[in-house]
Order: sequence, then structure tokens, then C-alpha cells
Amino acid sequence: MMLTGMHVAIIGGDARQLEVIRKLVELDAKLSLVGFDQLAHHFTGVTKMSIEEVDFADLDAIILPVHGTTLDGKVNSVFSHEPIPFTEEMVQKTAKRCTVYSGISNSYLDELMKKTGRKYIQLFERDDVAIYNSIPTAEGTVMMVIQHTDFTIHGSRIAVLGLGRVGMTVARTFAALGAKVKVGARRSEHLARITEMGLEPFHLNDLEKEVRDIDVCVNTVPHLIVTASVIAKMPAHTLIIDLASKPGGTDFRYAEKRGVKAILAPGLPGVVAPKTAGQIIANVLAQLLYQDLQKRKENKQ
Ligand code: NAP
Repeated sequence: MMLTGMHVAIIGGDARQLEVIRKLVELDAKLSLVGFDQLAHHFTGVTKMSIEEVDFADLDAIILPVHGTTLDGKVNSVFSHEPIPFTEEMVQKTAKRCTVYSGISNSYLDELMKKTGRKYIQLFERDDVAIYNSIPTAEGTVMMVIQHTDFTIHGSRIAVLGLGRVGMTVARTFAALGAKVKVGARRSEHLARITEMGLEPFHLNDLEKEVRDIDVCVNTVPHLIVTASVIAKMPAHTLIIDLASKPGGTDFRYAEKRGVKAILAPGLPGVVAPKTAGQIIANVLAQLLYQDLQKRKENKQ
């Protein structure tokens, strides 16, 4: 699997993007790097340039950072002092085949991609990326729990809320460390799966009752679910780790008032394992770019 003949622009980002660059260089793609001027490392055959120098018409793909752009259309880079503008005009210059990639989107990017009609892929919406990412997320959660408790995970009572891609990995990881894990969900097939995993299932409707005897609560549900009345029922020493995307699913104001420690912990893969997190993105991107290249070859025949 090689990407010879593919021209890809990588615009901004953090340490994770270095893994993407490494992988695409290895696969022989032609790379235009924007926003990497402070990067000491030199990749052979790769050109660092400013956004004005990019030959947009020649691009097969544009890779934005995990967070995409800011709401006013700038791309941040930890390897450059200046944010990089990313505008509709630039995307309009690309050929119809050009695909844009980011981790997540926002209203600016959604609007821009709708207007330009280019194919747009949010990598973090994909099941494979979410499942791979759940591994460093679970490890980061273990780290947070160790840092913020004075008891072992082994033997402690942990409630995991949600049996999605993150919830399942988190529940399994804590169980493997010897914790007594119960998992809250609302779908009967999830309750069945929790039972199959050898863990204790409960319906989220019963959350208030179920938190009376726990030491740690890990939330993965991106809705307000750990409400004031739920927190009021928890033992005072309970630690809440909220993994759900901002603003989380916890009433943090009430937790603070009651003296229950509650922590919103976003972006753990990039914090605890930027190299692995970068490799996850790089591998999936390489696969998607390769499929694109194959399709183009088939269409030409
Ligand atoms: P997911 O696969 O969609 O799982 C979400 C779970 O929440 C599902 O089991 C879903 O159950 C449940 N849920 C959603 N809305 C609910 C509601 N109103 N009431 C009860 N249950 C509800 O998502 P994921 O990939 O596991 O990610 C979970 C969250 O973690 C997301 O917000 C994601 O952005 C975030 N995340 C954080 C980190 C980090 O480092 N902190 C890393 C990765 C992901 P149903 O199937 O019944 O809807």
C-alpha cells in the first residue's frame, strides 16, 4: 500500500500530526506542510511552506488538526507562533476530488464545507477511531483515579455510566484491575452485554439508588446525567471523573458545593499518549487516502 502520486497538505496541529507526517512520508505521499516552521525535525522530501504558497488546485487532501479550526476560521499549530487562516476561497481553489479531514468539526467548518461541497471527513466520528482512542482514554482515566484517591482501584466500587465505545473499554479496564464495576445504560441490549462481560448492570433510571455505595463514578454520557440529586446520594468521598465532551454530564457547581470532587477530563489520548493517539489517526488516514487513490485509478480506467 503506497500513496505515490497523492498530494496532501497538512495544516497545523500538535504532536499527533507528526505521526501523520511520518506515516505519509513513509508511504511516499507528496506533502505540503503549513504551520510547522518552529519544528526542528526535518522530514526528507517534505516542503514546509506558508499557506499562501500552497498549490490548492493540485491537492488530493487537506488534513486539519484534531480540533479543526477556531470558530473564526483559524488553524492553531503548536509548531508556529501565528494561527493560520483557513478560508472558503482556499477550498474553492481545490479540485472537486480534494477531501478535507479533521478530528471534530465546529460551526465554522461545517458551514465552509457545506458551501464548498468538498468531501469532508471527521475522523473522530468513525467507530474504528473512537474504539482505538478509547484505549488511551481508559488509561488516562486510570491515571486520574490514582492521582485523586487515597485508596487502590483494586477492591473499590466503580460505576461507569454509558456502554458506548469509551464506556465499554473503561469498564473492562477497571474490572481487569480488580475493581467492583457496575455499568449504567438504558438499552436492554447494553444491559445484556454488561451481564455478559461479567459486570453488574443497572438501568440509568435507577442512578440515584445505584450511587449510594460507590467510590468512583466515571461518566461517558454526553448529557446532564450526574445531576444534583444524584450527587446528593453519593458518599462524600466519591470521585467523579467526567469523560463526556464539554460541558460534560455532571452538575459541577453542585458537586463543588457539596464537597464531592468532580473532574472534567477531556482529550485524554492527546495528554497521556500523544504518540499512540497520532498513530491511530495516521493509520486510519493512510487507509482512507489509499482507498481514495484506488477509486481514482479505477475511474480513470
Ligand atoms: P458513544 O459510543 O456514542 O457512547 C455514548 C453512550 O452514552 C452510549 O452508550 C449512549 O447510549 C449513552 N447516551 C447518550 N445519550 C444518553 C442519554 N441522554 N441518556 C442516557 N444515555 C445516553 O460515545 P463514546 O465514543 O463512547 O464517547 C462518549 C463521550 O466521551 C463523548 O462525549 C466523547 O466525545 C467523549 N470522549 C472523551 C474522551 C476523553 O479523553 N475525555 C475521549 C474519547 C471520547 P444509547 O446507545 O442508549 O444512546
